[in-house]
Amino acid sequence: MAGLHSRKVNAREKALHQRKRRGTLTVLFVFIALTVIFIGIAAIISRLKLFEYRQLLMDTDVSLQVYARSSGEAGRVKDEIFDEMRRLEQLLSYTDVTSDVTKINRAAGRSPVQVSPETAAVIQKALDYAGLSEGAFDPTVAPLLEIWGFQGDHYRVPTSAEIETAVSLIGYTLLEADTAAGEILLPRPGMALDLGGIAKGYIVDRGLDLLSRAGIGHALINAGGDIGILGPKPDGSAWRIGVKHPRRESDLIAVISWSQKGAVVTSGDYERFFEEDGVRYHHILDPRTGCPARTLLSVTVVAPTAVEADALSTALFVLGPQRGLALVESLPGVEALLVTPQFELLISSGLQDFIELPGAS
Ligand code: ADP
Ligand code: MG
Repeated sequence: MAGLHSRKVNAREKALHQRKRRGTLTVLFVFIALTVIFIGIAAIISRLKLFEYRQLLMDTDVSLQVYARSSGEAGRVKDEIFDEMRRLEQLLSYTDVTSDVTKINRAAGRSPVQVSPETAAVIQKALDYAGLSEGAFDPTVAPLLEIWGFQGDHYRVPTSAEIETAVSLIGYTLLEADTAAGEILLPRPGMALDLGGIAKGYIVDRGLDLLSRAGIGHALINAGGDIGILGPKPDGSAWRIGVKHPRRESDLIAVISWSQKGAVVTSGDYERFFEEDGVRYHHILDPRTGCPARTLLSVTVVAPTAVEADALSTALFVLGPQRGLALVESLPGVEALLVTPQFELLISSGLQDFIELPGAS
């Protein structure tokens, strides 16, 4: 009996021992696997270097920060991106006499124009955001921009009769667009299209697409305040994006930390403006009143794409604080920072944790 008992104990001890050994081996295996993964990631990260480029495009200083394995790789992708951005700028420009937009404007009141698929895509987006903002964003705002001199640099305050005439020519619902076929018609003479409030965002998105297709995972494009982000920095940390103080040129009013693929775009009344008799007149016009929108100084929108952020920053600027914030809160993945004329900062609910206010400390 005693022998049997001790054999049973031995068997139990052996099983226990084996289980312990298996446990130790599993822990060891997981540890080794994690170490290998960690070393692998560290090796990839350490091989990535930051390359920075600048170029004058779309009337602004466009900068590209890209993490790549070599200067050759970064240089190739840089050339490809800047070439593509230049090509799109030429198609979408209001002033270039050969652009699709000029062709549409010259044929206003006469015949539909066949445009490139890219132009049709931007027009479709512009119409979507015009609808969403109930016309606060309107790509047919050009006749107004003309009389205020914002299409050239001959700024002046127009007469109320001029404003009335220009306002009567604005209306995105009048635009006849078969964007699938790429056919666009402005039905009335004097109507004109201007994609200045959305084109930059679209072009930044195309730049991000090219980076992605080239196998780049960490990059930032800044087209004069229209910022597109591809992934976090290689070590997983966020990009820190400064938002300019609308009245103190060298100061920041906020810093946004963002690491997801997306965009941070700012529209401000300080970007293009003139002053007359102590009043500031700037380039974001309210299509209903025919005058510069007055209820905000700047709007920063964070969104999954730059085209969305660009159109919405202009739209919110016109909509003003209450309607603007309400629209943002209704859109998934979209956040905003609004600066009122009293320098009050209105921050949408999902942005609170990603924003620092340098002035507040
Ligand atoms: P910026 O181009 O200066 O970064 P925005 O994205 O806010 O700033 O775009 C302003 C431009 O949008 C103007 O220069 C003009 O071309 C156009 N624009 C002005 N008002 C409107 C509006 N209500 N709807 C659509 N586009 C507008
Ligand atoms: Mg815009």
